[in-house]
Amino acid sequence: MSFLSRRKFLLQSSSLAALILPVDIMNLNIIVEMPKEKFDVIVIGGSYSGLSAAMALGRALRKVLIIDAGKPANRFTPQSHNFITHDGRPPGEIALLAKLQVGDYNSVQQMDGTVDHVEKVNDGFIVRLASKAKYFSRKLIFSTGIVDIMPDIPGFSDCWGKSVLHCPYCHGYEVRKETTGIIGNGDYAFEFGSIISNWTNDLTIYANGPSTLTSEQTSKLQSHNIEIVEDKIKAIEHERGHVKRIIFENERSRYLKAIYARPGFKQHSDIPKILGCELTNEGYIKIDLSQKTTVPGVFACGDNVTRIRTVSNAVSMGTTAGMMVNKEVILEDF
Ligand SMILES: Cc1cc2nc3c(=O)[nH]c(=O)nc-3n(C[C@H](O)[C@H](O)[C@H](O)COP(=O)(O)OP(=O)(O)OC[C@H]3O[C@@H](n4cnc5c(N)ncnc54)[C@H](O)[C@@H]3O)c2cc1C
Repeated sequence: MSFLSRRKFLLQSSSLAALILPVDIMNLNIIVEMPKEKFDVIVIGGSYSGLSAAMALGRALRKVLIIDAGKPANRFTPQSHNFITHDGRPPGEIALLAKLQVGDYNSVQQMDGTVDHVEKVNDGFIVRLASKAKYFSRKLIFSTGIVDIMPDIPGFSDCWGKSVLHCPYCHGYEVRKETTGIIGNGDYAFEFGSIISNWTNDLTIYANGPSTLTSEQTSKLQSHNIEIVEDKIKAIEHERGHVKRIIFENERSRYLKAIYARPGFKQHSDIPKILGCELTNEGYIKIDLSQKTTVPGVFACGDNVTRIRTVSNAVSMGTTAGMMVNKEVILEDF
């Protein structure tokens, strides 16, 4: 038996797995110390989706720990839109109110911190924080979001969420009819170009190099007066995040009020992948209709599982995850 499989075997066969020790297992010098504090569910990521999951679980009397590193994706934007009852509010206010409301449920604890390791044990998971604290939980919910990878264009990240925008439904109304650009190329630029033309007819595509749009796409865009500019972008000039000009490497420039772009992204946390959760080709955590990942006992919700990136969708998926985790626990115990 290899070192790892023997260790795993010992852990899994121990009927005391939930309250182990410290134990020195068969002189392997492995001290398996189970955390004293145990939860029904640990929610990793306590933003809109995680807090919604925790509320559903709190209302189902579950003992829950939410651990949050405090870096929601929309922290760069001054106002969040298109979430009914909170339209136009600063995102931090929405999160604060959510935290206060979740705080009303006595069985739910909230903690600031970063989870840096999760280990599967016999009947649940051991969750370890960067602070070295550790907790046991029967089930896990990952609501860890994604990280946008800013392109190497000076000024881009300063304007992100203010005048460089990811979504017209979140911010398009505020810049309707304004001189607008899309930084993008190929199918993405064509699709986004057609969509954004709903909000403004003063629209240009900045391909940032030779266009990869097909001739059909190009003529369709041209028939809607959408120009394609191929000059390489040098920088975005702005005033406190409000874009003024795109400056090109050939020193030409264009004035504009808003830019749409879809930067690349990565999962905010690698832990689901390390635990064995499958990812989609696009890089999202694979889930079923109950928000279950491909690893038993592990659920995921919010931006880390979908391209439909809105607060309302994150909240909806969080509520579903909370309800479905609770159902799973009920059925296991009933
Ligand atoms: C610039 C910008 C503007 C936006 N504007 C709008 C808008 O106007 N309206 C709208 O509806 N939507 C908007 N969105 C989309 C919206 O912000 C997201 O859909 C929403 O934040 C997703 O919520 P979430 O809970 O899934 O993830 P997030 O809000 O991103 O939260 C994830 C949380 O998990 C934490 N976390 C990650 N890893 C760990 C770990 N290992 N341990 C502990 N905690 C961890 C993070 O620190 C973070 O607090 C915007 C997005 C961006 C990027």
